[in-house]
Amino acid sequence: MCVQDGLDPRARYTQDLVGAGHLIPLGVPGLFGRGGDFEGVITRFQALVRAEGQGDGAIEVHFPPIFNRAHYCSISHIHNFPDLIGSVHSFTGGEKEHRELVRKFENRAEEDWTRDLTPADSMLVPAACYPLYPGLKGTLPAQGSLYELVGWVFRHEPSDDPARMQIFRQREYVRLGTEDQATAHRDSWMQRARDLLQTVGLDAELVVANDPFFGRGGRMAKASQREQALKYELVVPITSTEKPTAVASCNYHRDYFGLAFDILSADGQPAHTACVGFGLERVALALFKTHGLDTASWPETVRQRLSLS
Ligand code: ZN
Repeated sequence: MCVQDGLDPRARYTQDLVGAGHLIPLGVPGLFGRGGDFEGVITRFQALVRAEGQGDGAIEVHFPPIFNRAHYCSISHIHNFPDLIGSVHSFTGGEKEHRELVRKFENRAEEDWTRDLTPADSMLVPAACYPLYPGLKGTLPAQGSLYELVGWVFRHEPSDDPARMQIFRQREYVRLGTEDQATAHRDSWMQRARDLLQTVGLDAELVVANDPFFGRGGRMAKASQREQALKYELVVPITSTEKPTAVASCNYHRDYFGLAFDILSADGQPAHTACVGFGLERVALALFKTHGLDTASWPETVRQRLSLS
């Protein structure tokens, strides 16, 4: 594609999406409202994911976009992704402290009023399935458990890339049980998710994931993740063909959450878990990039598949 306007492809695609009313900029990189057509595509794609998993007997659960800080402290997210954290803070002082807070706020060009806030009991959810595990303490049934959920996920990574939002939704199927049950879930969804994306005209490639672990320790975590091939991603070009974007991931966590939250499989061992997650905004962005900004001009097969006609 030629660069007539001098914008890089990410900025140009963002401009196109905003112009079409699909995204509403909120003045912070990676933070957007969504237009009706954009949201409609997400709703319809979710219906396809649900139809695909319908026969599997998943239990449906829903969580808010914040979760228990104590539960956050039971996992090692802070060691691997400190730069992505979202923490909720509020004001807990009395009248005297409030006067001081307001004074600093009014003088905010010179002073930092946010330092007068205190951490609340909650953190923003860094991955949609994290709030699920703490409530499952105990022993799973012999066949293990399967959950479906959709949730908002926060990642503090301000970017010009519309496919790298700070807050977005993931729809997941989460399997808990033995090692075999968990890996079978991840492995079967690699193909199912790829086929599903294919039916809406997204030719996704399956790759081993390369998460942005932080710092020196992160290089080891990154190497270990690749070496053990714990996580696979389905990638589609959105703003770059050289660096296509992950629109879905298939993750095997081994017994990480089982150990962290005392979840046992029926054999008394720490439960193994796996999840498949679709990045809903990214799927919509890939669809609008692939088929055009106006859903009315999308290929008829795709429109039918998404119940748009
Ligand atoms: Zn997950």
